[in-house]
Formats: sequence, structure tokens, C-alpha cells
Amino acid sequence: MALKRKIHSKPIMDIPPNKGAKTKVSTDLDFQADGKQVSYLKIPYSRNTSAWGRVLIPIVQFKNGAGPTTLLTGGVHGDEFEGPVVLIKLIERLKLEQVSGRIIILPAVNMPAHMTSTRLSPLDNIDMNRCFPGDAKGSVTQIIAHYINSILIPMADFVVDFHSGGKSLDFVPCAVMHRLTDKKLEKKTLRLLRRFGSPYGLYLNEGDPDGLLDSAVESRGKIFISTELRGGATVNASAVAIADNGVCNLLQEFGVARVKPSRYTKYRSQQTQILLHTDNESCFVASDEDGLFEPLIDLGGKVKEGQPIAQLHHTTTPGRKPKLLKSAHDGVVICRRVPGRAEAGDCLLVIGIEKSWECS
Ligand code: CA
Repeated sequence: MALKRKIHSKPIMDIPPNKGAKTKVSTDLDFQADGKQVSYLKIPYSRNTSAWGRVLIPIVQFKNGAGPTTLLTGGVHGDEFEGPVVLIKLIERLKLEQVSGRIIILPAVNMPAHMTSTRLSPLDNIDMNRCFPGDAKGSVTQIIAHYINSILIPMADFVVDFHSGGKSLDFVPCAVMHRLTDKKLEKKTLRLLRRFGSPYGLYLNEGDPDGLLDSAVESRGKIFISTELRGGATVNASAVAIADNGVCNLLQEFGVARVKPSRYTKYRSQQTQILLHTDNESCFVASDEDGLFEPLIDLGGKVKEGQPIAQLHHTTTPGRKPKLLKSAHDGVVICRRVPGRAEAGDCLLVIGIEKSWECS
């Protein structure tokens, strides 16, 4: 039975893969075929230990008739694990008959970085989320980005990219969207952000959109939602439960699948609760010298303008007064640095400012 389409008034025909795109990536996955397919993207990678070796990126497709296409990605940064956990669990329990249209899932799109639990790929030291639209003739990370940009994104109507804070940051669990110049697209995206059902929604005014997967999707007028789900290079039970619930809410809202959150998921919410923005540069509290970072408030804590929120201690010069950092805004601590030691320029805390759901 076809699901009620809430976003598209007319049924969408499947967009075939872009045959004209030059890529070194090969796959035996047939994007036009109905059914569940578990396969790999294969990228040639000759190295000392493997002369004719390839890098394998797992890719799974569920396709059940004509309908919109959703692309779900996790592990763009290899030290972020909630997304891969949520997507692996979705692949395991999703039944083809629950799908109407096409769902393409890459649980660990930057597999080399995932395997080393590092933000950047160990193969080329590139940040995948800073290298879009990629390069067909570049290094492995650039080749993957180019494939996503030229083959996968053109087929997709909706893209959800799961991020967390990684080794260096820890976030309150939130769904994330960008301020968009296309206000119609922004309104649709805001509605979907609300439907994710996380405690917080983050409305970002992206200062540096160059190279982001986000921009590659948004610039084509397609819906893009991201997340920040705790971090610290581990897996948080509450963040996984929130994202588990959220991905089901979104798939239903996109009109592509009706599926329940996985077993053990107790968190249930139909709506994202509080919308926050970080429009002011002073929302990002950074260190301007090295020191030992002492937060004076925990993640999710409410702060007032002028409230002391962190100290930087000078452990090499005992007796020297710590540097006191104060919040420039009333808001919520949405992100904190994880490692105790900080260097000049490191982001220590981020203050989110509450925003009305009505305006954009
Ligand atoms: Ca990230």
C-alpha cells in the first residue's frame, strides 16, 4: 500500500543513476532494481600491502516500486559512531514491504576513517565534509565525495547525514539544518527538523559552506537534515535512542517507509522540542591561549548573559590566575570540548540561543 505523501503532491519517478558521470567507483548494486540489495562501492587503491587492492564502502538499497528516494549517510567523520549504529540497526530491521520508493543507506561512508576511529581519512588526511564536490581523479576521500555528489545526490529527494561530536566535541542530541536563501525549501526543512523529535533543533547560519556535503545537497534545492548526537568518540545510549526514533519519524514524513524504532529504544517523541540558533560569533566560546579547560556548567545547562562558564588553568605556572570565560548570551550549552587540555583557537563551548519556530 502506498504511503500518504506529505511532501510531494505528485508521485516521483525514480531518477536513474547519472551514467555520464566519470568515476573510478564501481558497484554491482542496481539502483533501478526492486528489492533489498547489500553491496559495496569499490574504489581502486594500490598500496604496499595490496597491489590490486580496493577500498570497500558498504551500501544498502531498499527499493519497493516508484517513489521518492532517501539517502541516509553516517560516518562521514570516522570518529562519530551514533549514526553508523542507528543506520546498521535500521538496515537489520527494515522490511521491504514497509518501503514505498527507494532508500539508499551508507552507514560508514568514510570507511577508512571509521576503521581508524579518526575524523580524517588515514589514506589522504582529508576531511570528507570539507572536500565536496570531490574529484573523480583525486585521492580516495575525494573520489568517494565525487561519487556521492555526481551519482547519489542527483538520485535523492531527501538526504539525512548523521553526525556527532567525534573525539573532540560533545553535543546535546539535536537535529540540524541551515539557514537557506530558498525560503520555500527552508520552510519545508524546518518542518522536517521539527518532525525529527529530538530535544533540540539547531538552525545554523553556516559561515563557511564550502566543501560541505550539506551544501552539495542544498544547492540543488533538495531537503537536507543533519544531526549532532553527543560525541566523545563513543556511543551514547540516549543519543542513539533519539536518532533511532528520529530516523523513523523522518522516513514516515518523507513518505518512504513506515518502520518502528529498534528494540530497546524507549525514547519516543513526535516533535523536536526547542529550536536554537548560533548566529552570533560569540556563541562559539574559544580559547585564545593554551590551558587546562574547566567547564563551569555541564552540557545542556542554561546560562545567563555574563555568567562565568569556563576557566582556563595554567598548570605550568601555578599561582597565575586562571582565565575566566563568560557567556555573551542567555542560552543553552549545546556543545563542549571533550579533551581537558586546550590550545589557543580550540572551541571550548557553544551557546545556543532559543529561537521561535515561526520565524526563519
Ligand atoms: Ca561531524
